[in-house]
Amino acid sequence: SFFAELGLAEPILRALETKGYNDPTPIQRQAIPALLQGRDLLGIAQTGTGKTAAFSLPSLHRLAANPQPRKPASCRMLVLSPTRELAAQIADNMKGYARNLNMSVDCVFGGVPVGKQARRLVPGVDILVATPGRLLDLIDQRALTLGRTEIFVLDEADQMMDLGFIHALKRVANLLPKTRQSLFFSATMPKAIEDLGKQFIVNPVRVEV
Ligand code: AMP
Repeated sequence: SFFAELGLAEPILRALETKGYNDPTPIQRQAIPALLQGRDLLGIAQTGTGKTAAFSLPSLHRLAANPQPRKPASCRMLVLSPTRELAAQIADNMKGYARNLNMSVDCVFGGVPVGKQARRLVPGVDILVATPGRLLDLIDQRALTLGRTEIFVLDEADQMMDLGFIHALKRVANLLPKTRQSLFFSATMPKAIEDLGKQFIVNPVRVEV
């Protein structure tokens, strides 16, 4: 398939076949090669453009290429999403893309009891999708540390700002390791959002669809 030409590993290509994806969308074509090289990314894209696969597929490829034992109360990849619906959708999609990989995906959000989520994090998880408030609750309860996060995705940055998550995001930024890959997505990129992005990403590839 055309996904193979982008350099994605076989188990991921098989998952895409199962999903019935034939051709990468424009954001996938632009973003995947740069992300496979470990570059940071600034993406201006709306939901519906295929951006979830654009950030998930190369991230899964890189994590699988560098297997690590699971470490308690940690994640290797963190995806922040503004709402529980979006977070759950991302996690669902990622589970599908990871179906042929030995990679765990979990999702945590507010509005439900925190105890069960905290217990699930005890052994550690490969990929964690979270809303910002609940993520910080779990960190404050010492159910999670971010010191082993290799890939960080901030999705829907403009919605994050609208929902008042700016403080939470700055706290998260300070807890992430300096050496990491960061991806920053927003449907719009006014100056305030671009300035926020500069706190997360270094020398990014810019993709606009
Ligand atoms: P997203 O923008 O990531 O929410 O994706 C929008 C929808 O497009 C989702 O239902 C995906 O499953 C689907 N999708 C993403 N990439 C592709 C692709 N390359 N071919 C067909 N469908 C896709």
